[in-house]
Amino acid sequence: MKLASRLVNFDVCPDDPFRPMSTPIYQTATFEQLEADAFGQYDYSRSGNPTRKVLEDQLAALENGTRGFCFSSGMAAITTVTHLLKAGDEILADWDLYGGASRLFARVLNRSGVTVRYVDASNVESVAAAMTPATRLVYAESPTNPLLRVLDLKGLAEVAHAGSALFCVDNSTMSPYLQNPLDLGVDIVLHSATKFLCGHSDVTGGTIIVKDAALAEEIYFLQNAEGSALGPFDCFLLLRGMKTLKLRMDAQQKNAEAVASFLAAHPKVRAVHYPGLPSHPNYAIQQRQARGGGAILSFCVGSPEAAKQLAEKTQLFRISVSFGSVNSTISVPVKMSHASVPLELRDSRGIPEDLIRLSVGIEDAGDLIADLEAQLESI
Ligand SMILES: *Cc1c(COP(=O)(O)O)cnc(C)c1O
Repeated sequence: MKLASRLVNFDVCPDDPFRPMSTPIYQTATFEQLEADAFGQYDYSRSGNPTRKVLEDQLAALENGTRGFCFSSGMAAITTVTHLLKAGDEILADWDLYGGASRLFARVLNRSGVTVRYVDASNVESVAAAMTPATRLVYAESPTNPLLRVLDLKGLAEVAHAGSALFCVDNSTMSPYLQNPLDLGVDIVLHSATKFLCGHSDVTGGTIIVKDAALAEEIYFLQNAEGSALGPFDCFLLLRGMKTLKLRMDAQQKNAEAVASFLAAHPKVRAVHYPGLPSHPNYAIQQRQARGGGAILSFCVGSPEAAKQLAEKTQLFRISVSFGSVNSTISVPVKMSHASVPLELRDSRGIPEDLIRLSVGIEDAGDLIADLEAQLESI
């Protein structure tokens, strides 16, 4: 079955005698045991919950993994991955990471003796050269946010495995509809489910999907030991939102392509970063490993003041730190999502102060372009 069919055709409630069309919310913390010394399939919702299980199985299926795990946020999912490491271990990360991941790595992970080194992972050779025997995890996003750099995930997986490290990819900017990193040799794929998976800005959640059974057991151990799993009602909302993932992504990507083409031809716009434009430096890699350029793009408008003005003036693009919703949003990354990136890192990462990031929604493309055109005129 194609992914479009699998998004709506799955077992929404195994073993339910009433055969519901939508997954019931098992809003219960505990489950009765029939015998004192024998557990049923579920005993306590931190350890397992039927609503969460349906969502986790569906996510595993959509990413072509064997097991999925859902967490209270994308950051909780990332934190869980870092707990696979111990003191003395090292993470080799691409430098263009989500601001919250940078903050976790710089200000929390250092307390447990795990070190993080940053490399330019768009150069596979430089990652190979930077690996040391302590490198246990290679960590990256592709396309990156907010610069939309595209990394060669297959090449990076080979480099990580040559050094006996795991390779973890944050797939939030693409969603499982557009890219399946496990198929490219990646060991751990994670998402902020808050973004495209949810699609409606009404859930904060995260997910990890893996193929390897031993790795799955370790992640399950951490999810249960740390108590970071997603609650049943949020699981229900995600299950509902994900049914329209294809419809949303198709519409949003089509709109993003139109907006990117408009911006690329506009005299006041300096640089358009969008992996769906043939002028993108790694367009060929994106074509090979994903099914389109997605719905996020960024561009420069010449000065931080112009960036602030444009963000505040647009009518259909609301100022918001997040992305992936059916609504179009606009942000100034250095002032918002990336404000938590330490200044020295931000500078060396070259995130321009006049950079604007758009997450393109499902509105009419003509309306979106007209809004940008009018406001670009006025700044
Ligand atoms: C938002 C985001 C996260 C963090 O997810 P939360 O659900 O906000 O905790 C992680 N990675 C990327 C790429 C994100 O965009």
